[in-house]
Formats: sequence, C-alpha cells, structure tokens
Amino acid sequence: MAKLNNKSVLSERLQKYLLEKSMRCTPERLALLDALTKFKRRFTVDDMSSFFAESNFNISRATLYNNIHLFELAGILRQHKVSSQKAFYEVVYSNEPLSCYQEICTICGKIRDFTDNEMAQHIQARKSRFFRPEYFSIQIHGICYGCLRKMKKEKLKT
Ligand SMILES: [Zn+2]
Repeated sequence: MAKLNNKSVLSERLQKYLLEKSMRCTPERLALLDALTKFKRRFTVDDMSSFFAESNFNISRATLYNNIHLFELAGILRQHKVSSQKAFYEVVYSNEPLSCYQEICTICGKIRDFTDNEMAQHIQARKSRFFRPEYFSIQIHGICYGCLRKMKKEKLKT
C-alpha cells in the first residue's frame, strides 16, 4: 500500500463525513489527518499529544480528544480498549482485510498481531439475516514473554 494512496483514502472519508454533518475542515482536523499518515499505525492520545508538541503544533488536549472521537465516527480510527483506563487508536484503511487479531500484554501494553485462518473461516461462515458483519476484532489479554521473564527473574531475587 502506497503512503500517498492511504492519505487520499482517509482524506476522502473525512471530507465526506464533514460535508454530511455540515462541519468545518479546521486546521486541527487537517493536522490530525496528516499526522495519521506520518505517525505509527497505532497510538494512544498521549502519543499523539507529544507528537504535536514536538512538531510545535498547538492543539489543546480537549480539541485532540474531540477530533479523535470525530475521526472514529467518520470511520477513520478505531478504538481498542486495553483495560478500563487504557485505550489505543488504530487507523482503518478501507482496502484491508476485515479482521484483526491481537495479543495484548496487560503489564507493558505491548500488542502483537497474529493471524488465525481457521478462526477467520469460522467467523465468516456465520450467517445471520439480522446482522451484517463489517469487521471483527479478537483481543487476547495476557502477559507477554518479556514480562513473564522479568517476573521470573524478580521472583528468583527474593
Ligand atoms: Zn509485557
């Protein structure tokens, strides 16, 4: 996937949403859109906040929160809750597979992607007249190998 292509996909989605809702395309919204294509695929609000601070772009935390939420409604971002206090956002590109598998470490928050064809087939075979699936996301919460090793080491010390 070319970077340029990604940006135009997201930009189109944002313009369409703003037009539908009669909202303005503010400099903050454009800056966030721009940041999404330059920034890593997944981020927390804190990550994005420090990214803007480093690039000397003035955006209040409230505005950032509001715009991230707006991007979620526009289908540009998807929120993943790691725990009750911790969430991260992920950019949604339209031409990608409709599935997402992640292993999330409850200690360090590290996320590892994995695939499971058998599970995907099983979910895709599910049919319902009352529901049209659009995407699915499977998150397995646990402790990563790195954290397990650290825990073992600390146990040995005591
Ligand atoms: Zn960990």
